Amino acid sequence: MSVPQRRHLTTPLPGPRSQELMARKSAAVAGGVGTTMPVFAAQAGGGVVVDVDGNSLIDLGSGIAVTTVGNSAPRVVAAVQEQVAAFTHTCFMVTPYEGYVAVAEALNRLTPGDHEKRTALFNSGAEAVENAVKIARAHTGRQAVVVFDHAYHGRTNLTMAMTAKSMPYKQGFGPFASEVYRAPLSYPFRDGGLDGATAAARALDVVEKQVGAVNVAAVVVEPIQGEGGFIEPAPGFLPALAAWCRENGVVFVADEVQTGFARTGDLFACDREGVVPDLVVTAKGIAGGLPLSAVTGRAEIMDAPHAGGLGGTYGGNPLACAAALAAIETVEQDGLVERARAVEAFLKERLHALQARDARVGDVRGRGAMIAVELVRPGTTDPDPDLARAVSAAAHAEGVIVLTCGTYGNVLRLLPPLAIDDTLLGEGLDVLEAAFASTLVGAAQ
Ligand SMILES: *Cc1c(COP(=O)(O)O)cnc(C)c1O
Repeated sequence: MSVPQRRHLTTPLPGPRSQELMARKSAAVAGGVGTTMPVFAAQAGGGVVVDVDGNSLIDLGSGIAVTTVGNSAPRVVAAVQEQVAAFTHTCFMVTPYEGYVAVAEALNRLTPGDHEKRTALFNSGAEAVENAVKIARAHTGRQAVVVFDHAYHGRTNLTMAMTAKSMPYKQGFGPFASEVYRAPLSYPFRDGGLDGATAAARALDVVEKQVGAVNVAAVVVEPIQGEGGFIEPAPGFLPALAAWCRENGVVFVADEVQTGFARTGDLFACDREGVVPDLVVTAKGIAGGLPLSAVTGRAEIMDAPHAGGLGGTYGGNPLACAAALAAIETVEQDGLVERARAVEAFLKERLHALQARDARVGDVRGRGAMIAVELVRPGTTDPDPDLARAVSAAAHAEGVIVLTCGTYGNVLRLLPPLAIDDTLLGEGLDVLEAAFASTLVGAAQ
């Protein structure tokens, strides 16, 4: 690995070069584009991001669950280098190329279910979610789309409507697309531990009474919610939704944009309960950092739109396809599903111990290398977003990249690349634990 796998700070963060670049950013980049840390990247690999001042940071974010196979993963680098020298773009809709077809074949093989499948490729998660809705509407001749509380599906107009949280994703950006309806989720930490079947019945009752099953084109759900707070529905919730969709001719869409490609300790999060969605939406971890997304699903549904109805100039770009094939090979050859399960065991052991001695840690949850702690005021379930901010700021200052999420902003989420080693992962947790301790000292003063 070309990047030394260690945490090492040469300056306080942000260093002088990052500060200069932040000043240029403020003057040149639209203010609506925020950053988690004011630190500019120069190089990254394995579990480390090196900044422009020569500081080496531990990466517990993977660029928001994207570089699951590692940053600049060797197979991805080689494949992209070869492709970039051959051709960069022809547009698949003009003169097609093999890479696109090979990615479609790989996704048809790997996504849940062994029915006949088809795939279409796009650029971003949001674009793929939009296309899943288009396909479901074309197939059913219906319009309504059901989504859930705390959902995140993107920032385009239709996906803003599908996303739950107003600030910062929707505030001031309306009007939003119509025919989007929201149902209650299964959120074990906050719904009194309602079992999955009961939570699904509650959601479907809302759908039947307020929308009407015959009007529903698609139910779109994240099998484990991402931005919403790494909320893992109670067992039985997803199977009950899938069964209802089957009975009512509704297209069941799994948004696996954040959970896909070994992230959750299964190739796809739906695999855990054997749920077979009609359509699976993927992006983020698909191509080792290159922009690519996909909709994969039942051939008869995917083939419903007329020729020319789906596509886009860059969808399935040849560089992104080469990267995806290399990333998928890495997941399979390097046993990354097993690696994600080992990361889960490693993280949960430490975080459960933290929870046992720190009453501010209300919940430890998630699967694989997608693990979160939800922070609360001790003895309650009242969200404590200030603590999440303080802990992440303290970790950032020590050179550990962690992210927050959640409707209430009180969830710390860990999304390490699966190329990270245990030593670095352990050190990242040491820093995080020290960050919790430092905020206790602060509270006592
Ligand atoms: C990130 C995300 C999206 C949007 O993906 P973009 O590539 O940012 O458009 C959609 N759904 C889920 C579950 C996500 O995590």
